[in-house]
Amino acid sequence: MHVLVLGAGLIGTASAWFLAQSGHRVTVVDRQPGPGLETSYANGGQISVSHAEPWANPHAPLQILKWIGRDDAPLLFRLRADPALWFWGLRFLRECTTARTRHNIGQLVRLGMYSRAALQALRRETGIEYDHLERGILHFYTTAPTFAAAVRANETMAEHGCDGRVVDAEECMAIEPVLRQARVPITGGTFTPGDESGDAHKFTTRLAALCRRDGVEFVHGVRMDRLVRAGSRISRVDVVDPDGQRGELSADAFVVALGSYSPLLLRTIGVSVPVYPAKGYSITLPVEQSRDAPTVSLTDDEHKLVVSRLGNRLRVAGTAEFNGYDTSIDVARCEAIRARAAVLFPRAGDFARAEYWAGLRPATPGNVPLIGPCRFENLYLNTGHGTLGWTHSCGSGKAIADIVSGRTPEVDFAFLGTRSAAATGAYRPGSVNPGDARR
Ligand SMILES: Cc1cc2nc3c(=O)[nH]c(=O)nc-3n(C[C@H](O)[C@H](O)[C@H](O)COP(=O)(O)OP(=O)(O)OC[C@H]3O[C@@H](n4cnc5c(N)ncnc54)[C@H](O)[C@@H]3O)c2cc1C
Repeated sequence: MHVLVLGAGLIGTASAWFLAQSGHRVTVVDRQPGPGLETSYANGGQISVSHAEPWANPHAPLQILKWIGRDDAPLLFRLRADPALWFWGLRFLRECTTARTRHNIGQLVRLGMYSRAALQALRRETGIEYDHLERGILHFYTTAPTFAAAVRANETMAEHGCDGRVVDAEECMAIEPVLRQARVPITGGTFTPGDESGDAHKFTTRLAALCRRDGVEFVHGVRMDRLVRAGSRISRVDVVDPDGQRGELSADAFVVALGSYSPLLLRTIGVSVPVYPAKGYSITLPVEQSRDAPTVSLTDDEHKLVVSRLGNRLRVAGTAEFNGYDTSIDVARCEAIRARAAVLFPRAGDFARAEYWAGLRPATPGNVPLIGPCRFENLYLNTGHGTLGWTHSCGSGKAIADIVSGRTPEVDFAFLGTRSAAATGAYRPGSVNPGDARR
């Protein structure tokens, strides 16, 4: 079967790899000149099964209200006349109940564990190198109440099989000695030894090279304008090349992996998906003294920042801003990240040479991605990976390859079109409703 994968980010490239391994002829299409140049470019680097608590949780509504109007808020809804944002926001609120949060954590932990194992197997099979470290993730706290709440969240994740353990302040510093240099008190943490970190962009470009070696074709610099339906199937996608020449690409099956832009192409065939862009920032600085920069990947709970050592660079990423498709870099927000990093790791690197970046996370209200068949027979979604697209890339790619090939994925997850997805009640009829997929 000829499969057209729409999008060459982490998710599209991983899908292409596993589809090709399943014996399909695969073509990947993307508007950028190379793979992984949009949201998958400079993310936080964490493969974090442990970071499964979604933004939508019982504490979120009050916390977000407190943050309104604060430009340095970790989670910032910019109030604007965008119906998509308001619609998404209402769904987000619905995901904040205790029951929905528990359900979503279960989905995210199971997909996370499956995905991390798939990444490890891929590494063993191919020897792919992307500045990865297998030193675990330490989620640390700087106030007593946040630490107490974390102990409870850790219990929920442990129920789903996550290997995180609660550690006191002294143990935090033993796990990552660079934290002794922090100019704020560390009150405790949770440590997941099985988690990892690595450079998502290096991974995507190198996996794309392996895909090409195995016969996958990449068509770059081409913008996709609309999907065209013929009855219950998709017949082609209309494209525009850099010279403005129009063309069309057809295939037997189509996998939509366009990240935050998935809703824009899908609406050309009347399909609506609850994906909204959540802008985040990262800074990347050159490490000067290796021993003064952390190697264990870290999460600073208070500022919602993640930290990963990528070879001789240190990446610090985080914050979320709901403000449509604006990708401009707000220097003040990046400087706030830089200032916090300097408080935590004063000697880590050359802060004056920090590079700033912004990317749009494809966020669903509960942070659970949309993976599986859509309501057209040969159309599949692999999108909406929000804060965990790097963590979930290999598992999602492997699962979509199984689904396209008519196999049942090996992981217990609410894939679109399955009974467990319908039972979630998270998606309404008329949009991509897991219950009525494959009509
Ligand atoms: C600040 C930040 C920190 C993060 N940290 C982490 C982390 O530590 N761990 C983690 O697991 N995840 C993290 N994430 C999330 C992760 O980066 C994303 O979930 C992931 O990159 C999404 O991948 P994707 O392939 O779906 O989207 P993208 O990488 O955006 O790929 C979509 C592709 O589609 C193409 N495209 C879109 N529209 C069109 C069109 N019309 N025509 C042609 N091509 C098109 C784009 O060019 C792009 O290449 C972070 C994200 C951010 C922003």
